[in-house]
Amino acid sequence: MSAVTALPTPVAASGTAISPPVIDFQSVGQTFVSSDGSRVEALQGVNLSLRRHEFVSVIGPSGCGKSTLLRLAAGLLMPSSGTVSIFGVPVTAPRDEIGFAFQRPTLLPWLDVIDNITFPMRHKYGRVEQRDVKRANELLETIGLRDFARKRPNELSGGMQQRVAIARALLHDPDILLMDEPFSALDALTRDEMSFELLRIWAERPKTVVFVTHSIQEALLLSDRIVVMSARPGRVSEIIDVPLARPRNLATLSDPVFTQLANEIRVKVFTRKPE
Ligand code: ADP
Ligand code: MG
Repeated sequence: MSAVTALPTPVAASGTAISPPVIDFQSVGQTFVSSDGSRVEALQGVNLSLRRHEFVSVIGPSGCGKSTLLRLAAGLLMPSSGTVSIFGVPVTAPRDEIGFAFQRPTLLPWLDVIDNITFPMRHKYGRVEQRDVKRANELLETIGLRDFARKRPNELSGGMQQRVAIARALLHDPDILLMDEPFSALDALTRDEMSFELLRIWAERPKTVVFVTHSIQEALLLSDRIVVMSARPGRVSEIIDVPLARPRNLATLSDPVFTQLANEIRVKVFTRKPE
């Protein structure tokens, strides 16, 4: 018989079990070797823990490792150093409880909208259940595309395609949602609308979210905490708590705390430190 025993669950002084962070980056470093042989240190010494059902945004200059951070959490990439754990278990491969919305919609052009949204189920189980189609239709309603169920991606605008990709990531109601600048291709109005839509979905079906964005306003509107990253090598330079009340709505945008935090973060993101 194996001598391996399960580790005891840590217990707090109060006697309640302490659950591990949902996502945990411990001293994570990522170095890539480029096609010309040069080394790129994309991430260095990243420590970041996400609690259950927390909404965290990641903001920072282009190339500071935001997408790399998400790919590590998704199990699409293994870290060069340190560990990335999900629910206390080191990530070694993609996991079912994660939904991923990429920067570009990556829809399959020969499938219609419903078949694209349900595609992960077909891919994993070889068939699509009726309840998946039902859920896909509900999500279409939510994202305002009910009348587009049988359209192909090339019949949709870029923004509509991106909404379909978000619905696809939400289909199996994942515990963890990783979103890489999902609204960057949308016009400003649709963007605000989608932010509120996402907040509504998140409140209805709570999940832990990591949301990469270039927009300080979007980060503030959505998040419990904002991770500010610096470039070369990519590091976490600051983690900011967002003390704005929920639910957040249009009035949140004119809250003095919102404006003040936006200004503070702008300075942090754009002030170049001396080399
Ligand atoms: P961001 O999403 O913040 O713009 P990325 O995570 O995409 O940044 O990239 C961080 C750095 O790592 C960049 O310098 C990028 O060129 C480099 N990089 C990312 N992926 C690879 C790869 N597969 N091979 C080589 N370099 C990469
Ligand atoms: Mg990126």
